Amino acid sequence: MAFELPSLPYSFGSLEPHIDALTMEIHHDRHHNAYVTNLNNATAGTDLEGKSLIEILNNIDDYSAAVRNNGGGHYNHSLFWTVMSSSGGGEPEGDLAQAINARFGSFDKFKNEFSTAAATRFGSGWAWLCKKNDGEVEVCSSPNQDNPVMPGVGCGGTPILGLDVWEHAYYLNYQNKRPDYIAAFWNIINWEEVAKRYAE
Ligand code: MN
Repeated sequence: MAFELPSLPYSFGSLEPHIDALTMEIHHDRHHNAYVTNLNNATAGTDLEGKSLIEILNNIDDYSAAVRNNGGGHYNHSLFWTVMSSSGGGEPEGDLAQAINARFGSFDKFKNEFSTAAATRFGSGWAWLCKKNDGEVEVCSSPNQDNPVMPGVGCGGTPILGLDVWEHAYYLNYQNKRPDYIAAFWNIINWEEVAKRYAE
């Protein structure tokens, strides 16, 4: 079974004005689609066919750069679409809120740490909120299409929230102003989805 591009769970324009429709269309239909196509090309006819994406990422050092970049790209974007929503924003509730407060002291301190991780990731990459095995949460970032599911990358937990800080994610609307894009992201975070992933 080849890897497949997941549908966006909302229309291209539904995250406006925070992320514009054209950026979403190009990002999903071209960038993410290319990661899926290239991942399938890199795994076709190899013993990776039939393996789950998580299984591949957990052992990524055994595989080629093409598998790493495109497998990471497919995983990262599949997560990214789901943690945004036109009805997002605000703050998390319940167990996730408690875990954030326990680790960072307050939601605002967490917000500051995550935003700093996103803003200071040099070049292309991602900022993450991860769940560790003990239930603690941690913030980290990673270069390119790497993610903390890969051995030795970031904080080593399971990503439950991710922000794409590649220029292709924001350049049409924000140009070089990455901090403005990061600030806008807080208005569209789908905390219900993040909490669901925290609970898994
Ligand atoms: Mn991207």
